Amino acid sequence: MLLQRVRVDPAREGLSDVRVDGDRVTEISAPGERLSAAGEDVVDGAGGVLLPGFVDAHVHMAQWSMARSRIDVGDATSAVDVVDLLVASGERSAVRAHGYRAALWSTPPHKDMLEAALPGVHVAVTSMDLHSVWLSPSLMDALGVVHPTGYLRDHDAIAMLAVLDARVDDAEVDRQVLDGADELARRGITEILDFEYDDNWSSWARRAARRLPAVRVTASTWSTWLEHCVAAGRRTGEPVPDTAGTVRMGPLKIMADGSLNTRTACCHDPYPDDGAGGESHGLLLVDEPELVRLMTVAASGSIASAVHAIGDRANTVVLDAVAAVRARMRTGELPTVGARIEHAQQVRPADLARFAELGVVASVQPQHAMSDRDVVDVLWAGRASRAYPYRSLQRQGVTLQFGSDAPVSPPDPRAAVADAVHRTDDDRPPWEPDEALPLSAALRSACGGRDAVTVGSAADLTVLAQWPHLLSNADLRSVPVLATISGGRVTHLSA
Ligand SMILES: [Zn+2]
Repeated sequence: MLLQRVRVDPAREGLSDVRVDGDRVTEISAPGERLSAAGEDVVDGAGGVLLPGFVDAHVHMAQWSMARSRIDVGDATSAVDVVDLLVASGERSAVRAHGYRAALWSTPPHKDMLEAALPGVHVAVTSMDLHSVWLSPSLMDALGVVHPTGYLRDHDAIAMLAVLDARVDDAEVDRQVLDGADELARRGITEILDFEYDDNWSSWARRAARRLPAVRVTASTWSTWLEHCVAAGRRTGEPVPDTAGTVRMGPLKIMADGSLNTRTACCHDPYPDDGAGGESHGLLLVDEPELVRLMTVAASGSIASAVHAIGDRANTVVLDAVAAVRARMRTGELPTVGARIEHAQQVRPADLARFAELGVVASVQPQHAMSDRDVVDVLWAGRASRAYPYRSLQRQGVTLQFGSDAPVSPPDPRAAVADAVHRTDDDRPPWEPDEALPLSAALRSACGGRDAVTVGSAADLTVLAQWPHLLSNADLRSVPVLATISGGRVTHLSA
């Protein structure tokens, strides 16, 4: 394939042509010079700017794809507000809604509120962070769920999401997920790391048999399927058969703590008193010995680990566990595999350098910093630890990878880069501006660690209408994506 008329070097005038053979870039002309097509397909880059492909390193693909068709309650400011939105939607059969943020609400969600407004209706509402689910009494009856409030959190919520999803048949989920992947390509995304709570290897193999997804997929697994994965020899990085190299095995996902918005992120310092008592430091969902055990089982099968840790204490515990497992890798007792911490939203100064020392990737979501800034200022006020410490991590030499955690934030790397660089997504001044990243570092973090497209690069390419360094905060968020190429396939071309 020949990608014609793109800009490859901000320091030089003139358009280049780029030859792609299979999944590699094999030739790039000097600016102002052309390559002749040798019988291959020709794609017009329309004078756009060539970047390494955007990678969304943390998505929940089925959740996001299905949330696209659900009632959006993201603007609700109270539980009553959510109920009003559901009633106003006019939906009366099975109501599915998504997106509330209850952290600062005075009255928590309760099943009786749903029953009073929508008697007998099956209602399930998921929070923006997927760490809570709010169910109506009739849906609870239908599912055989017994719960005092119908407001399920953390492990209970994640298990409930799996139950709810199992009620949608595979063909429908696959259709929505593959359509969702098309939408990601339109946003310039070439690759995702999917953290759906699922046997993702099998689900993506099934989807790819229907139609190849428009993004390359790294498919994580969870402890539920870990022993099966190890026994089946599914090593991290291994291509899933019959997916044309589009789907690969990813890491084991482990949850170490809860979330900020449900006050269950596990912290060294207590949360401010919410009047309800209990859980004042948040929740540690696994202790260090169990973390070490899971990571060891994974490593024994050459499976990397990706551990969700939001609060600073959870981050400390995960780093301790990684250190213990790393020691056994160094002696050759275990295969050497990678480790990631998902979110790393609050990190003690003493732990920042340990990410680098232990080679732990910080998988971060800059859009969360913006949507959480007000909650952080209340729930994490006055702490020594740093919140969303991107610049501090980068200074230590830590590899940062950007993701959206979709559906928690919209999957859009342009917004992630703008948030990381400007630390504001509205007209307020930058929040904690000392942690803002330089643009080059933000782009690298959004492009899977790659700085520029060169001969030999993977043919994962995103063509934007303009160089990001010439754009304002607002314009960077909306810069048109002219073309997307994933694994050598054209997955998006603007008309
Ligand atoms: Zn997630």
